[in-house]
Amino acid sequence: MHSNNAKQILQQTYGYDDFRGEQESIINHVIAGKNAFVLMPTGGGKSLCYQIPALCLPGVGVIVSPLIALMQNQITAVQELGISAAAINSSMSGEEVYRAKQAMRSGDLDLVYVSPERLLMPDFIELLNDCQIALFAIDEAHCVSQWGHDFRPEYQQLSFLAEQFPSVPRIALTATADNATREDIVNHLQLNQGKTFVAGFDRPNIFYQISDITGAKQNLLSFMNMQHNNDSGIVYCLSRRKVEDMATWLSGQGKTALPYHAGMPSSQRAKNQDRFLKEESIIMVATIAFGMGIDKSNVRFVAHMNIPKNIEAYYQETGRAGRDGLPANTWMVYSVGDVAMQRHFIESGDSPDAIKRVEHQKLNALLGLCETTRCRRQVLLEYFGDACKPCNNCDTCINTPSVFNATVAAQKALSCVYRTGQRFGIAYLIEVLLGKDSPRIRQFGHDDLSTFGIGVEFNKAEWQSVFRQLVAHNLLIVDITGHGGLSITTQGRLFLKEKTELLLREYKKPERKKVRESKPGNKTTQLNSEADQELFDQLRSKRFELAKTLNIPPYVIFHDSTLLAMATGKPANEDDMLAISGVGQVKMQRYGLDFLEIIQSDNLNSH
Ligand code: ADP
Ligand code: ZN
Repeated sequence: MHSNNAKQILQQTYGYDDFRGEQESIINHVIAGKNAFVLMPTGGGKSLCYQIPALCLPGVGVIVSPLIALMQNQITAVQELGISAAAINSSMSGEEVYRAKQAMRSGDLDLVYVSPERLLMPDFIELLNDCQIALFAIDEAHCVSQWGHDFRPEYQQLSFLAEQFPSVPRIALTATADNATREDIVNHLQLNQGKTFVAGFDRPNIFYQISDITGAKQNLLSFMNMQHNNDSGIVYCLSRRKVEDMATWLSGQGKTALPYHAGMPSSQRAKNQDRFLKEESIIMVATIAFGMGIDKSNVRFVAHMNIPKNIEAYYQETGRAGRDGLPANTWMVYSVGDVAMQRHFIESGDSPDAIKRVEHQKLNALLGLCETTRCRRQVLLEYFGDACKPCNNCDTCINTPSVFNATVAAQKALSCVYRTGQRFGIAYLIEVLLGKDSPRIRQFGHDDLSTFGIGVEFNKAEWQSVFRQLVAHNLLIVDITGHGGLSITTQGRLFLKEKTELLLREYKKPERKKVRESKPGNKTTQLNSEADQELFDQLRSKRFELAKTLNIPPYVIFHDSTLLAMATGKPANEDDMLAISGVGQVKMQRYGLDFLEIIQSDNLNSH
């Protein structure tokens, strides 16, 4: 059924007018039989880079994907385009596996999705030898590397593909890889003869916002209510207990919030994930156990109640928002307590010391991002070796923080840490600086210290901000036991000795609802008129109804962006409909009339 021409497939099967960025060169490169490594941000359009070549080349495209639980969704999505695809994995019955294998052998499949474990089985390799293979695509290729948090040992064994199937092109894809990870991917998958395609890292539709933890729950709630009333989103928490607490609390506030963490029975986890994918307006409250491979395109916000592990993790987790390219929000709060937890995790892990050191440095880089006075996007992109102008789409661009000369304040804080013995946490240190009358202080005799009461020019919140920044600037370090005691770093001692000037962010009382509320592009569905909005809502209900009947995620039928284009473009016939981005031939046949009908009756009503 498919034409061999990549551009034609893009237009007829996918319903898109043009390739994006490097898609076309990647596709042509693979069709020419060559290997490729593709580094492209989430939502950049990686799947087309292997799907289209697999459709153009004779034989079946074999896609290695790490998560069995999500394979079915990927398959449903391509089947909706009229592509013939199947999975082969351990969750299937023997009968199902047999049928899929038969389809592979007889050349009836365009795409087959397998886990790395399955691919490595002798009988599967035998099957591969019996089939014509268009290409091997290795998705989430960063799983090859020990540096990332998604390390999968089986991925490293995929090197056998190069040896056993030297003439079949291999394409490895990922959205996250620093230099060390990139090298690992190229080495283990033997891609050194191939070409590396690095698209920019920027996710221009994502808004970044980071603040301190004060009032976090209420702030999160008003953020949701004000900007994401009926949207789907993810709320990340560091611990299972916090996940449970937050999910319960949000449910009590009238939200549909579902928990997800590794301590839950797997059937319950699977059920919650399924609801998140198939329903609208669901909030998933989760640990980082949730998210890899989730390709729900209309996740409108990602919130972090705690600081993640490093910038890669932050970028990967926030990157799950807005895959469809429509505006999306990220929101994060953090505290020095979180930093202590993360340091504790690093130290109690079983990595060798050299890796632990790198992990601490990576955490420092994330703290730098949290406390920066520059554009967040610039800091993020520079971390990945990319660059941009101040973006005007992050909190620091919109509300540029003022700085003040904090040299003296920092000296006071550091000397207070020193004189109290480098073992107390921020709350206690602030009490000493403010000269509080507390039994604990008297018990330790700290009311006699020269630093007792020397900090009254600032209030508690201001001192908290100073301490946070001193940690972020690596002048102070949180101890690794997880209790939050602070001590002075080598850099901190140097600072005291050389009396270097230090500029810090001025503390600003959090003004709720300030950021972005009245800015254009804030709401996803920025429709011109109420009538268009109403039509969009009707189209959305139709989509939900169809999805429910078919038991598939709604965004697999049409993305939000496609429905938006229908609501504003108001296609009047089949040709108009086919011209809408995201409406290909098969989807037109399956769903086109259902949606045309709604648009037409809406048109009649408004005349
Ligand atoms: P990734 O795997 O890189 O996160 P996807 O392959 O899921 O991204 O693509 C993200 C979204 O962009 C999908 O909705 C996809 O259909 C859409 N898309 C991909 N390529 C194009 C294109 N050339 N034109 C329009 N939309 C595209
Ligand atoms: Zn910015």
